[in-house]
Amino acid sequence: MISQDDISSANTKLSQIDGITLDTEYAVMEHFYTIQGEGAHTGSAAYFIRLAGCDVGCSWCDVKESWDADIHPRITVQSMLESLLETPASIVVITGGEPLLQDLGPLTKALHALGKQIHIETSGSSPLSGSLDWITLSPKRFKPPLPEIYPYVDELKVIVLRKKDLQWAQEHAARCPSRTKLLLQPEWDTPQAMPLMVDFVKENPQWKISLQTHKFLGVP
Ligand code: SF4
Repeated sequence: MISQDDISSANTKLSQIDGITLDTEYAVMEHFYTIQGEGAHTGSAAYFIRLAGCDVGCSWCDVKESWDADIHPRITVQSMLESLLETPASIVVITGGEPLLQDLGPLTKALHALGKQIHIETSGSSPLSGSLDWITLSPKRFKPPLPEIYPYVDELKVIVLRKKDLQWAQEHAARCPSRTKLLLQPEWDTPQAMPLMVDFVKENPQWKISLQTHKFLGVP
């Protein structure tokens, strides 16, 4: 539980950040405190900022309402940070949509000034911006990653629908640094992907399986 003292101290920190940065607006679909359900940080409490806008167009996308940035409000960094500071979150996950369609410089500068760890989940199809502590690359066939992102990838998470996705996953892994965590995740409505992944990971133990545990937990 956050105390009044915690809120006052957080507001003091906020007032000390460069005002120009705090005035920057982003198209935001939603922002909320929850549990990270996927990937290497599964189970960690995290504040999610889901930026609006996506030009990738995955047919199986489960957040199609994020695609059109114009139907979502533009929210200042200050407003997002005020909501964030009502929580004890130390990790902030910037997701989308495709979050790299917007310049993450001002937002990440402000988040770092508050001492937050910043994670991003991206298709990598737009240029990197901002200062990020953990980059999850989830490549999509519909608009492939830009080559310059691969050296920075902390976690490669490939969505699997069919067998050929496993070969495709290996092609992306070959372009990532050796430290990159390699994850396969079944598309939620494609249960036939699961036995394919199980067999693959047993034969290729450098890979792990990621599940959308937030859907089991019933949290957003
Ligand atoms: S990149 Fe993400 S948000 Fe965009 S269409 Fe694909 S799954 Fe949906």
